[in-house]
Amino acid sequence: MNEVTGSFPSSGPHTILAEDLIRLDKKHCWHPFTPMEEWCAPEHKPLLIDRAEGVWLFDQQGRRYIDGNSSIWTNIHGHNHPRINAAIRAQLDRFAHSSFLGLTHEPGARLAARLAQLWPEGTLSRVFFSDDGSTAMECALKMALQYWQQSGQQARNRFAAFDLAYHGDTSGTTSLGGIPLFHQRFGAMHFPVIRLRDLADLDRLDSDSRAQLAGVAIEPLIQGAAGMRVWPQGMLAELRAWTRQNGTLLILDEVMTGFGRTGAMFAAQKEGVIPDILALAKGLTAGYLPLAATMTSEEIFSAFLGPFEEGRTFYYGHSYTGSALGCAAALASLDLFRDERVLAQLPDKVGLMADLLGKLAEQNPFVAEIRQVGMIAAIDLVQSRDPHQPFAAARRTGVKVCLAARDYGMLTRPIGDTIVLMPPLAIEAHELIQAVAALAPAILRGCSETHP
Ligand SMILES: *Cc1c(COP(=O)(O)O)cnc(C)c1O
Repeated sequence: MNEVTGSFPSSGPHTILAEDLIRLDKKHCWHPFTPMEEWCAPEHKPLLIDRAEGVWLFDQQGRRYIDGNSSIWTNIHGHNHPRINAAIRAQLDRFAHSSFLGLTHEPGARLAARLAQLWPEGTLSRVFFSDDGSTAMECALKMALQYWQQSGQQARNRFAAFDLAYHGDTSGTTSLGGIPLFHQRFGAMHFPVIRLRDLADLDRLDSDSRAQLAGVAIEPLIQGAAGMRVWPQGMLAELRAWTRQNGTLLILDEVMTGFGRTGAMFAAQKEGVIPDILALAKGLTAGYLPLAATMTSEEIFSAFLGPFEEGRTFYYGHSYTGSALGCAAALASLDLFRDERVLAQLPDKVGLMADLLGKLAEQNPFVAEIRQVGMIAAIDLVQSRDPHQPFAAARRTGVKVCLAARDYGMLTRPIGDTIVLMPPLAIEAHELIQAVAALAPAILRGCSETHP
């Protein structure tokens, strides 16, 4: 290998040794949410993914692992799906990318229409594309702010967000964020946010604060990065009523919950809620390509209309906005939802997952609580069933359990000492059984190991 260029002489993919790649990675890559000293340590052997098929990821040695967190909550129909691959290839043969700034293309126009059709006629009829969950939410905030400016309510310039919320990693979305580990450090560049523990905090707001509210942002039904924290049933519908009564916007972040994850196409639909602004990303392309959408109503959109001189244009966007390849993948994913009746098959899978996890909790002395919403599950680990006996954080039990799970053929990432099980919706019964069967010994090992 050429040390300078990192290129390999006569480099067919199979002549590249895993060790060489790992050496390049450790020398040049900086991984997200990853303690890099440990990563780069000589004894650390990173897992190198070589290919994938269905719910299975294969490493360079040919070992296979169930994708237990859907590749960080994105994958829906499994990997290497022939129909999604074909749709991306067909688009690639026409063109890979052209700008959506002042131009349009077939997959973009068709996808916007298809997304609008997932909601009742005349509700969320406008779609603004961006690249990922953070930009979808960032866009939502700017859209809301400019909407109020152009509707004669300039005073509405503050957002409310919940404790432990996660809405992305840009400065705007970390301002909304309520997870101290991720968000506190960047406080100097955050805008002030009205911080809420629950709905009661909204009711306590004085009339001045209410009159300043541009919108309330929430992850509906379940807060993901908080450790899969489930909201009380009916809370979302109540919040919808509150935002209407107080004349402010409801901004839903369905970046994690969208596209079937909770058992319905969208979490909001489980409580009959339609937001004013909706952010979608992760599952939008079924986990194939980065693409996001911020959806809104014709009413909000119309505040941006008018003669050019009035300056109502939304000056916001990204270079890859409306990525044609991403739109093609998303259209293929929506076709699969329809043709393979994906949602209709979920109740059986959700029920099986609940049964399997219920048994796991009964048999495993380290499981304090299991939470499940649709195909999203979280397992809280403690020293001995007693929820008041957590492991010392420094022990990093969650990490140990997830590393042990690899030996049993399952990949996932913990949130502290909470283990996430969120497989692709396409997972079959026997694979779900394998996934939970891998977790059981991994939890025992990760929790009982003695460590220096
Ligand atoms: C992952 C996530 C985001 C951020 O999405 P990125 O694509 O990582 O930028 C925002 N909100 C929620 C609820 C998420 O789970």
